[in-house]
Amino acid sequence: MPTTPHAQTERDTENRILEPLYAEVLRRNPGETEFHQAVQEVLETLGPVLTRRPELVDARIIERVCEPERQLIFRVPWSDDSGDVRVNRGFRVEFNSALGPYKGGLRFHPSVNLGIVKFLGFEQIFKNALTGMPIGGGKGGSDFDPKGCSDAEVMRFCQSFMTELHRHLGEYTDVPAGDIGVGGREIGYLFGQYKRITNRYESGVLTGKGVGWGGAQARTEATGYGCVLFTSEMLRSRGADLDGRRVVVSGSGNVALYAIEKAQQLGARVISCSDSDGYVVDDKGIDVELLKDIKETGRGRVADYARERGQDARFVSGGGIWELPCEVALPCATQNELTSADAVHLVRNGVLAVAEGANMPTTPEAVRILQEADVAFAPGKAANAGGVATSALEMQQNASRDSWSFGHTEDRLAAIMRHIHDSCHDTAERYGTPGNYVVGANIAGFEVVAEAMLAQGLI
Ligand code: GLU
Repeated sequence: MPTTPHAQTERDTENRILEPLYAEVLRRNPGETEFHQAVQEVLETLGPVLTRRPELVDARIIERVCEPERQLIFRVPWSDDSGDVRVNRGFRVEFNSALGPYKGGLRFHPSVNLGIVKFLGFEQIFKNALTGMPIGGGKGGSDFDPKGCSDAEVMRFCQSFMTELHRHLGEYTDVPAGDIGVGGREIGYLFGQYKRITNRYESGVLTGKGVGWGGAQARTEATGYGCVLFTSEMLRSRGADLDGRRVVVSGSGNVALYAIEKAQQLGARVISCSDSDGYVVDDKGIDVELLKDIKETGRGRVADYARERGQDARFVSGGGIWELPCEVALPCATQNELTSADAVHLVRNGVLAVAEGANMPTTPEAVRILQEADVAFAPGKAANAGGVATSALEMQQNASRDSWSFGHTEDRLAAIMRHIHDSCHDTAERYGTPGNYVVGANIAGFEVVAEAMLAQGLI
């Protein structure tokens, strides 16, 4: 589209404001590539807000929002089953508390470093704001690899991790939850240690707890369900739906499993999912109960699913899942898993919608290719916000010593996902980029946080 001279002048003004801000982020955070990527993706959409609201520039809201309020790095020593001492590194980045206590998951994975935790924490600020719930943004984790560890080793690691982290947490201060490598088992061990050290049954200090001891119904399902509900809203706004659609989901963790389940409940046929070894193709539609039985018990991998499912399914080792023809693609594995070459395949095969179940799974170039081809694209901070939103519902139940039914919680989740969709959709329209959910999500989330920061003064 040719740019008018007026639009060009506006863009020049925006760039004059934004470029030095981004350069400063690069200078202050050397080598943190994922964090740079996340900041750039947000900043490049905020130009129109900053030119309309010079008071945000004067108050240096961008500089403040890009600098975490507090960053914790700590040693986590533990002993393995043979009695050998191991040492890992723990992180918690308390990014922004304008809207509520820091809220965000813990990731245990060998790839975890400060830059990854900062990218996740930064995304979390806007994601949490989009939910409309009173939660700030934070993230944490460790380079600990739970894969191959015994239960007892995972417990000792979690206890050591919490022995240090507990002094920084609290239901009004900082409330972690799970992420990759941290599920119900780890949350249980972490909660037990927090309770033991503080001598307080402070239910609201962690979310993702077991439903029998303060956890919310539907929390396990929420991220995957929410992602599919968002996709269905996106399709609806284009006069389409999920019924009968061919869907590809990457990953086979918690997010992927429940995205598959909800997509199939809404009439779609999910023909693939994956893990780090490869992917399965199951043209009749994934048998989600079998997949859960294999993955949730930890007794096997996607290759085992293919074997147990029999002649209906085949396992393909290595990458290439996005080469499968589909109408809806849900990347639910990890960051930067869907590249520009993958986006080209998806577009060529006629994909209608892509929604990020994982955090930042699509590279910036791939996002551009999808958007230019008019594919409906939902960024993770909107599409996967159902998980943290349900965590906020868990906090709400803990605060009132109440527990809600699965149905009630799922209804609340659906209403929240509709609200997030509509606010992204309407904001994109308001800023002259209809259908651009990246712009909509970034601006809608940023406006809420910026408003609260302005009101709370220079802190
Ligand atoms: N780790 C999840 C996310 O990326 C959930 C965080 C939470 O529930 O606090 O949003």
